[in-house]
Amino acid sequence: MRASTVPESSNIPVQARSADSDAAASAWHRALDRIARKLTPQNFDMWIRPIECLGIDGRRVQLRAPNSYVRWWFELNYLQIVLAELQEDTGAEHQVHFLPEPEAQAPQAEPAEVPKPPSDARAESHEPHASEPEPADKGSIRSVEPPPKPALNPRYTFETFIAGPSNQLAYAASHAAASAYPPKYNPVFICGGVGLGKTHLLHAIGHLVAQKRPEHRIRYVSGEQFMNEYVHAIRSNSMHDFRSRYRDGCDALLVDDVQFLAGKDGTQDEFFHTFNALHDAHRQIVLTADRKPHEISDIADRLRTRFAWGLLADIDPPELEVRVAILRQKATAEGIALADDVAMYIANAIKSNVRELEGALIRLAAYASLSGQHITLDFARQTLEGSLAPHPEHVSVERVLRTVASYYNVKIADLRSPRRHKNIAHPRAVAMYLARSHTRESYPDLGRAFGGKHHTTVLNAVDKIGNRLRNEPGLRGEVRALESLLLR
Ligand code: ADP
Ligand code: MG
Repeated sequence: MRASTVPESSNIPVQARSADSDAAASAWHRALDRIARKLTPQNFDMWIRPIECLGIDGRRVQLRAPNSYVRWWFELNYLQIVLAELQEDTGAEHQVHFLPEPEAQAPQAEPAEVPKPPSDARAESHEPHASEPEPADKGSIRSVEPPPKPALNPRYTFETFIAGPSNQLAYAASHAAASAYPPKYNPVFICGGVGLGKTHLLHAIGHLVAQKRPEHRIRYVSGEQFMNEYVHAIRSNSMHDFRSRYRDGCDALLVDDVQFLAGKDGTQDEFFHTFNALHDAHRQIVLTADRKPHEISDIADRLRTRFAWGLLADIDPPELEVRVAILRQKATAEGIALADDVAMYIANAIKSNVRELEGALIRLAAYASLSGQHITLDFARQTLEGSLAPHPEHVSVERVLRTVASYYNVKIADLRSPRRHKNIAHPRAVAMYLARSHTRESYPDLGRAFGGKHHTTVLNAVDKIGNRLRNEPGLRGEVRALESLLLR
C-alpha cells in the first residue's frame, strides 16, 4: 500500500556509494518527492521517473536516461526544477552529469522501473539479429538504426483498460489502430473529457504496436511537446532532423491532446505537412482531444477536415459498473482491500472523471494505512466527505453570475445576453470560466444557463481564459478575487 501521493518515487534506483553519497541520494529522493507533487503523475512517470540517479559525488549528480529523447526532454523541461529542489534541500548548487544512455552502450540490464516497449530488447543492439523475421511490409521505412523508444507508461495497456458502453468504440478503434497494418482507419481520433482514458488508450496502442511490429518506429507526443520540439528545431536550426524524425522516421504517430495546437498557426502548418506525409505513406495516425474536431476553434479548416477523415471515437463518462470495475482493478493492483459497499459508495460519488475516482481510492487507502484502520463504509464516508464535494453546495451558476455581475458592475441579464461589447464579453467569459471550475454543470448546461448559448461558445471562453491566466497576472488577480468571494 502506498502512503503518500508520490510514493512511487521511492522506487527510483539510486546506487549510493558511501555515507556521504547516502545522504546525497536521500536529498535526490526528497527533491523528487517534492517535484512529484508539482507535476501530473503522467509527466512524472514519463520524464522524471525513468531518470536514474547513479550517485552524487560532491556536487556532481550522475544521472542516466533510458534514451536520448527522454534525456533531451528532461534537460529542456525539468532539469532546472530538479536542480532548484536539490539546492533548496542541501543549500548547495549541483551540476548534472549524464552518463551515456543505455541505447548507446552494450546491451545491459535496464532498471525495472524504466518504461519501455517490448521492442527495446532488440533496440539495444544496433545490428539486427540474423534470426529476425523480415518486416511484413517491405515498404515500411527501415534502417539499421533501432526504432526510437517512446516513453510509454507501462501501466497503460489494453489489459488494464476496462471497456464498457461509454468507451467501447474508442477501445475498439484503438485496438484496430494498433492491430491493422496498413491502417484501416486513418486517422483514429479519440475525443472525450478529462480523465476518461484517452492517454491510457494512446499508450496502449503504442505498447501493442511495439509488440506486434517491433520494427515500427512509434512516436508518442502531446500537442504541446510537438510544438515545443518544433520551436526548438527552428531555434536550433535543426528543422531537417525534426522533419525526418516525424515524417520519415515514424511508422505510427500518436498525438495526445491535439487541441493544444489551436491558435498556434505555425505549428499547425508543420503538423499539417507531417500529417499529410504520414497519411500518404499509410502510416497510422492516432489523435486525442478533449472535444470533437469541429468543436476545436482556432484550428485551420484543412486540419479539422483531416482530423475527421478516419474514425471518430467519442468517450463518455463511464457507467456505474465500469466505475466499480475500475476501482476493483486499481484496488487489486495496489493491494488495497476494497469492500463492495465502499466501491459502490465511491463509484456513486464520482461519476465523470476516472482520475478522480482513482485518486479517491488512493487517498482512502493512504489515510487507512496511516491511521491503522480498515476501509469500512463509515471510514470512507468520514474520510472522503470533504474531498468528494470539492465544489461547495452554495456555488451555483446563479451565484457565479451574481458575483461576477456585481464585481464588474454589469447586469446579470447582460451576461446572459448575446452582446459582444468587451465590457460585457470579458466578464461573461470570466463567469463561464468560474462556473466551469466551481460547479458541476456540463458545457451544454452552462450554455443554457448563460442565455441559451452553444456549448462550444462556453468551451472556447473557458479555454481562452485558462490560457490567458498563464500569462496575465492582472487577470489572475481578478479571478482570485472573484474566487475568494465565491468560495467564502
Ligand atoms: P485523459 O487522457 O482522458 O484525461 P487518462 O488516460 O489520463 O485520461 O486517464 C486517467 C486515469 O484513469 C488513468 O490512470 C487511467 O489509467 C485511468 N482510466 C481511465 N479510463 C479507464 C478505464 N476505462 N479503465 C481503466 N483505467 C482507466
Ligand atoms: Mg490525457
